[in-house]
Amino acid sequence: MPEGPEIKQAADAVARAIAHTPLIHISFAFERLQPYEAILVNEQIWAVQSKGKAMLIRFQNQLNIYSHNQLYGKWYIQKANSYPTTNRQLRLAIHTPKKAALLYSASEIDVITNEQITSHPFLSRVGPDVLDDAMTVDQVRDRFLDKRFYRRGLVSLLLDQGFLCGLGNYLRSEVLFVARVHPSLRPIDCTPEQIDGLAKGAIAVSRQSYLTKGITNNLDTVAQLKQQGFSRQQYRFYVFNRDGRPCYSCGTAILKEIAGGRRIYYCPHCQKL
Ligand SMILES: [Zn+2]
Repeated sequence: MPEGPEIKQAADAVARAIAHTPLIHISFAFERLQPYEAILVNEQIWAVQSKGKAMLIRFQNQLNIYSHNQLYGKWYIQKANSYPTTNRQLRLAIHTPKKAALLYSASEIDVITNEQITSHPFLSRVGPDVLDDAMTVDQVRDRFLDKRFYRRGLVSLLLDQGFLCGLGNYLRSEVLFVARVHPSLRPIDCTPEQIDGLAKGAIAVSRQSYLTKGITNNLDTVAQLKQQGFSRQQYRFYVFNRDGRPCYSCGTAILKEIAGGRRIYYCPHCQKL
């Protein structure tokens, strides 16, 4: 599933392709949304924003297209009036004279007014976005220490979009590693240094992933590994997907476990209990 960084990259790509230009065609696959086609055509998009794993396409006429890709949704950017070869189902097509942004397979698409953003079932429930530029380490630290959250296991907390939004399964393992925190802990079990590490890590690892298209590993290590001929799959992460491989910090073999039905990876030496 794409996580916050991937959705923010997709939002950037959609904005580059179709924002600030009058639309010449827009079509929705869902019948209940088709009345909006006539309302949105010829309008302009002023921004495309991500909120965790959701996206908002914002129109100058106060309307917004909300979409959540869940597991399968995928955006394609094409030349206007051209379509990719895919077996996926086209759910939303937006064309300007030059470019098209096409959303395939997503099942959660809606059109909402600016006022409805604050009461939207997903948008009103999500916690602060780790990729929001205004977010500070102090704010995230307070979140970990908040009574609503600090007795909950980190493995479930870090996937809970109501706690912080934008984190997902690979970021969960990577943030715990950066903070040197064993996956079985709760915030209340952590030292102040570890809480600090989690707060800094949640922001820094997510932002780096956004800026590097998915690389969470230390960038000096990445440069060395690239020089040695390692593939992207090998150098991309500190621990995620690396079970049985040596930790880049200490050489200990990375372990894999299942937590909350999802894979988690950690170094038993760097993330001691
Ligand atoms: Zn290690």
